[in-house]
Amino acid sequence: MRVFKFGGASVKDAAGIRNVYDVLQQAGYEDVLVIVSAMGKTTNALEDVIKNYFDKSPELSSSVQEVKKYHNQILLDLFEDDKHEVFSAVNTQFADMEYFLAHNKSPNYNFVYDQIVSYGELISTTILSQFMSYKGIQTQWLDVRNYIKTDSTYRDAEVDWELTQKNIANNIPRKILNITQGFLGSDENNFTTTLGREGSDYTAAIFAYCLNAESVTIWKDVPGVMNADPRYFENASLLNQISYREAIELAFYGASVIHPKTLQPLQKKEIPLYVKSFINPTLKGTSVSKGQDLEPYLPCFIVKRNQLLISLSSIDFSFIMEENISEIFGLFHQFRLKVNLIQNSAISFSVCVEDKFGNFNDCNAILSKKFKVDFTENVTLYTIRHFNEQAAQTVEDNKTVLLKQISKETMQIVTNEN
Ligand code: ADP
Ligand code: ASP
Ligand code: MG
Repeated sequence: MRVFKFGGASVKDAAGIRNVYDVLQQAGYEDVLVIVSAMGKTTNALEDVIKNYFDKSPELSSSVQEVKKYHNQILLDLFEDDKHEVFSAVNTQFADMEYFLAHNKSPNYNFVYDQIVSYGELISTTILSQFMSYKGIQTQWLDVRNYIKTDSTYRDAEVDWELTQKNIANNIPRKILNITQGFLGSDENNFTTTLGREGSDYTAAIFAYCLNAESVTIWKDVPGVMNADPRYFENASLLNQISYREAIELAFYGASVIHPKTLQPLQKKEIPLYVKSFINPTLKGTSVSKGQDLEPYLPCFIVKRNQLLISLSSIDFSFIMEENISEIFGLFHQFRLKVNLIQNSAISFSVCVEDKFGNFNDCNAILSKKFKVDFTENVTLYTIRHFNEQAAQTVEDNKTVLLKQISKETMQIVTNEN
């Protein structure tokens, strides 16, 4: 079996959905499982809905209407007959979502978040699978929550591999096109969970692992993995081949073209990952597999914006040692601050972190009792794998460097532009 993943950008409008059909015609759809994300920026739009709900904002209703209108327009563009069953199927899903908002009693933001954002994927897969059937392809829509089981860490759930493996093995129909949701799972009480933003790539890897799939292909709006994000670097070049190890490093440092959790399950079973263009599906793209580390061998640039540079020093000039460090990291873990760079000296300790969940102020309140805390918001972290002098220069030109760290293969530079 082959596993394909189509992200939000590939299904952002009716033309996108038609293009997925064309890609499947070209790449083949027998014995294929397709994982799909929410359409376009739907997850962000649903995040706004959740925020409005908790803020008791008068804009709650209009934010819901906006998401409905967007999907309805896509339906009208795709299906000539507005009596087609897909209209009522999607309506029912929105009605379920609104019912939840009207009746929910849980004050748990993360729990509510998962119950609501999941409609993005539930609806996109309904539309895509109905469209494939409409075009004459035999399609099976699967509810991923019956397969991927997780703990109850809402918004960042951990996969229960044993249960998931049991649910998936031999339970996916062969010979036809299967379509299911990326990003979602369910916990032991069958409440919906999510695997973290951008988690659909990871869903593809979970299925591939459990199915012993032949390969995973993630279809993107770029020709493949490049040596830099083409949005920020004009001269980015395509990487033809990357080893698992190198790809894990790139994803770990933030090359957002592949979700970092995706690679480990694939590497374990040596399942190749292809990153290909949904605009030009016949082009080869990038192959992440056993073999050459990086071909062509080029410096690779990764940019992470909106970082927080925190510098901690001891109040009484005592050393920052193992026990302090473990306490500091315990707090970062507790407040879900993701550490992207560490540098320490005798009496000070600097980290570049990402505060995805907006917890830094609470964490800082505790840290400040024991340490002198200085921090700079909105800094940018550049990572250059396989750096050279010229590559470093490209990054540093016209910027103020706040911190720089060099190891054998990797250079990291923190600058204060956002
Ligand atoms: P999806 O639609 O699957 O969610 P993403 O938007 O998450 O797709 O990933 C594709 C984007 O990743 C590209 O549009 C590109 O701007 C960005 N990107 C970041 N780093 C790289 C890189 N090294 N190579 C290619 N694209 C990259
Ligand atoms: N829709 C989710 C997100 O936007 C998951 C994904 O696209 O991978 O984060
Ligand atoms: Mg994405």
